[in-house]
Amino acid sequence: MDISDFPYQQWRDDFPILSREVYGKPLVYLDNAATTQKPSVVVNAMDEVYASYNANIHRGVHRLAQECTEKYEVARAFIAEYLGVPKPKTVVFTSGTTASINLLASSLGESYFQQGDVVLVSEMEHHSNLVSWQLMGKRHGVEVRKIPILEDGTLDFNALEQELNPRVKLVAVAQVSNVFGIVNPIPRIAELVHAHGALLFVDGAQGIKHGGIDLPSMGADFYAFSAHKIYGPTGIGVLWGREELLESLPPWQGGGEMVGTVSFEGTTYAELPYRLEAGTPPYAQAIGLLQALRYYQTVNPQAATDYESLLLHRAHEGLSRIDGISIYGYHSGNAAVLSFTQSGGHHYDMGVLLDKMGIAVRTGTHCAEPLMTRYGLTGTVRASFAFYNTPEEVDRLIEGVGQAVAMLS
Ligand code: PMP
Repeated sequence: MDISDFPYQQWRDDFPILSREVYGKPLVYLDNAATTQKPSVVVNAMDEVYASYNANIHRGVHRLAQECTEKYEVARAFIAEYLGVPKPKTVVFTSGTTASINLLASSLGESYFQQGDVVLVSEMEHHSNLVSWQLMGKRHGVEVRKIPILEDGTLDFNALEQELNPRVKLVAVAQVSNVFGIVNPIPRIAELVHAHGALLFVDGAQGIKHGGIDLPSMGADFYAFSAHKIYGPTGIGVLWGREELLESLPPWQGGGEMVGTVSFEGTTYAELPYRLEAGTPPYAQAIGLLQALRYYQTVNPQAATDYESLLLHRAHEGLSRIDGISIYGYHSGNAAVLSFTQSGGHHYDMGVLLDKMGIAVRTGTHCAEPLMTRYGLTGTVRASFAFYNTPEEVDRLIEGVGQAVAMLS
């Protein structure tokens, strides 16, 4: 694909926020790994919920409750289809990736792990895919051990093989690193993990927008993502699991919707997925997520990813030419995330200067302190791209970093 083959201008027009200015300059939004912007179809669909058929779902006999319930369940079915899984009931709505991992860790802690078991977590994980397992481990006497990474940022497969022993009951890895954009070879990891009789959890927070997705071919046992990272609303995410595994999970939170019958003598619990969805569900957000996925399908996830890859290479090439800039964990097959530092300059100062030029990047540890420690860093500047970014915006980043380096040196 040539960079001009992708109709980014056409898609940009669907995102009103992209035409705003910051400090009198056109906004260059390069913080897409933190959250993506939302197209009008998503915002309008959620407005329509509140304007036309808002009602609490599942428990109402009246017309609005029925309409709203139906749309919520249509969203679940659509998401299952998007993920390539046959049964909507294996799609559990949560408030996001973090909640999905906490649900999973907590429920597996009650039902699956035994004292002395081990969970392996890679060194590149976001804190939510580490701390949730540590909390569970503390409660149930389960050890959380590290799968190290190599100097180039990729997973150390020799170390993984060495760490896999009969005590290991689960391995937790990201599909895509949120700091370097490294894409983990999940099918290969799944094969190894399953050969040792352990389960595989994949954190898809960054991976969900990286190309199309087909969960069965990935080989994971559980998968989680957040809607806001794939052009959908905040406040909703998904935990998917293999049906028989989800069936064995005890409830995580108690409340309305997740019960069968309730009495002081004893309570029974609802079927999947409701057993794991206590309280009023985020139905407006589920409908927003459905629209986001539909929209992304229209854009074409593979074409979007190929285009983002061209933006990434352009940024890498330009930034590499600036004296004093070091780029970490870059590989040509990475997702569109680029982390860099400036020798002698602080990442925070770089972020502030870029902001004054209208360029939004993220600075700091990116909720991945063990990864920073591995490289002896206090943080990086991270630019992350989406299909609505333009080659000109990448050039503004390169120019802006060049100016910032001159100022900070
Ligand atoms: N894992 C990864 C790899 C992430 O990038 C993020 C978000 N930065 C999360 C987990 C947590 O996602 P959320 O904050 O939406 O729960």
